[in-house]
Amino acid sequence: MAKKVTAFLILLSMLAALLSGCRKNTRYSVDYYDVFDTFSTFTCYGLEEEAFDRIQKELHQLLLSFHQETDIYHTYEDVHSLKELNDQAGNGAISLSRRQYDFLLFCKNAYTLSEGRVNVMLGAVTRLWHEARERAGEGEKHVVPSKDVLEEAFAHTSPDLLELDEDLLQASITDPLASIDVGALAKGYAGSLAMDYLASQGVENYLLNLGGNVCAHGKPLGTGRDAFLIGLQSPNEPDGSYSQTVTLEKGCAVTSGDYQRFFEEDGIRYNHIIDPDTLYPAALHRSVTVLAEDPAIADLLSTALFLMDTQRGQALAASFDAEVIYQD
Ligand code: ADP
Ligand code: MG
Repeated sequence: MAKKVTAFLILLSMLAALLSGCRKNTRYSVDYYDVFDTFSTFTCYGLEEEAFDRIQKELHQLLLSFHQETDIYHTYEDVHSLKELNDQAGNGAISLSRRQYDFLLFCKNAYTLSEGRVNVMLGAVTRLWHEARERAGEGEKHVVPSKDVLEEAFAHTSPDLLELDEDLLQASITDPLASIDVGALAKGYAGSLAMDYLASQGVENYLLNLGGNVCAHGKPLGTGRDAFLIGLQSPNEPDGSYSQTVTLEKGCAVTSGDYQRFFEEDGIRYNHIIDPDTLYPAALHRSVTVLAEDPAIADLLSTALFLMDTQRGQALAASFDAEVIYQD
């Protein structure tokens, strides 16, 4: 009799484990349309609906406030954005949140980490290209900036023009004609903040696609797969099917390419990543994808490697323990 009871109890506990296992194979997903001027999706596995709801709201708030803090195009009522830093160039310092300070320090270090390829103080030059792209978008015919104008702007792009004061939590740009452009780094850094937040909440299995920067952790429970499969777009068919897939267990895949933000003039394509040597868009690669554990590093490297030949890029990626996939 005792044996029968034990057998029955074992059966019952197996059934309970099976049932709770089923419940844990939940999958919830949400889209955000208002962070980093792009479209983002957070997909989470194994959480109860209530927990997911709380976490996705907090995550959204985190992304939104960091987006505002690093925005160089808009000012906000409650947040000091980096537009204020640019507006104040040559005119003294602005106060920063701790998070802004840490981000700006990362931006400053990016110059050395990328062997001089990623310079956030290239704003005076990238602004000319940004304006050209906008004018081309409005149908204007001749928008490519002249070499003279680009070189004039380049005189105001030394990385040292950004000064940071950790004690006072302040930053200043010491040349009125200089400006900061954090477009190469902000989304990746946001990915790192997001992954840290999700780790602090014990979220194990998720995929966060931040406007094409895909951060993954764990696995898609209930699908039988051990890791997430990430599709890479082909530069020749940016809206078409994936050219290849990679698996990602923990980390981020970031792509810099010439096919999403560009304009054409006289049959030449001008993309949005500027070679600091020529001051023109880089033409070495069509697309560079970097896989790294830290999303901030993946974003930094994808831009840097887009501006380097393959051999140098692979060596730099290896020094960060990152993988790189070129599609040329
Ligand atoms: P995406 O914005 O498409 O994710 P990237 O991460 O490669 O692509 O960043 C490109 C952006 O970085 C540009 O839009 C521009 O704002 C800025 N940028 C372009 N060239 C440089 C450069 N050499 N150094 C620093 N920032 C750059
Ligand atoms: Mg980048």
